[in-house]
Amino acid sequence: MNLVLVGPPGAGKGTQGEILSKRLGVDTISTGVMLRTAIKEQTEIGKNVEKIINAGNLVPDDVMVELIKERLAKPDCAKGFILDGFPRTTAQAVALTESGVKIDKVLSLEVDDDKIVERLSSRRECRKCGAPYNVISNKPEIEGKCDKCGGDLIQRADDNPETIQNRLNVYHEQTEPIKAYYEKKGILVTAQGEEKLEDTTSNVAKALGLEV
Ligand code: AMP
Repeated sequence: MNLVLVGPPGAGKGTQGEILSKRLGVDTISTGVMLRTAIKEQTEIGKNVEKIINAGNLVPDDVMVELIKERLAKPDCAKGFILDGFPRTTAQAVALTESGVKIDKVLSLEVDDDKIVERLSSRRECRKCGAPYNVISNKPEIEGKCDKCGGDLIQRADDNPETIQNRLNVYHEQTEPIKAYYEKKGILVTAQGEEKLEDTTSNVAKALGLEV
């Protein structure tokens, strides 16, 4: 299955992406993780996008489309993939369609804005592999350490109150319209993001027609 996850920052796309990735046996491709890795490694792209990301704005479409096309051309994507964080604008969605990549389903994870700020302040991420955690709802087995690779858990530079508000505005203005684009194609499904991780996981399974 080629799946796209859509939703506001902090809706649980990263976490649900990981769960679905194990369940479906395909990789999750997170453009946010790719860009943060590029920043950490100070590559050309990394240097160019650091300020944009830390302000909560979107990286230009042409940069993102190029990045994702390269990634989707890798052999592991032939068996299917889960996209987390791409497309984020209608122009990106159109470019994805025009590149000939077939998307089977687009899952919109719905969470109200007033819950987002709270969630993002307790969110953590592995410095090494980018795996998502939450100190309240999705704790690691050992405090401060990643279950997958043992890396240190850190707070993202863009998870601060001012940037969060801007990211929410950007989501509603620039990303939410892609839901209508995919609804017209008849492949949009929605799931409510709940307080408890396992409740969200079960909503997601139902929305995708998987066994709960
Ligand atoms: P995320 O980890 O998905 O929340 O992404 C973090 C940041 O990376 C976003 O706030 C954007 O600045 C940038 N970003 C990630 N994916 C995209 C995309 N598809 N288009 C533009 N900017 C992106």
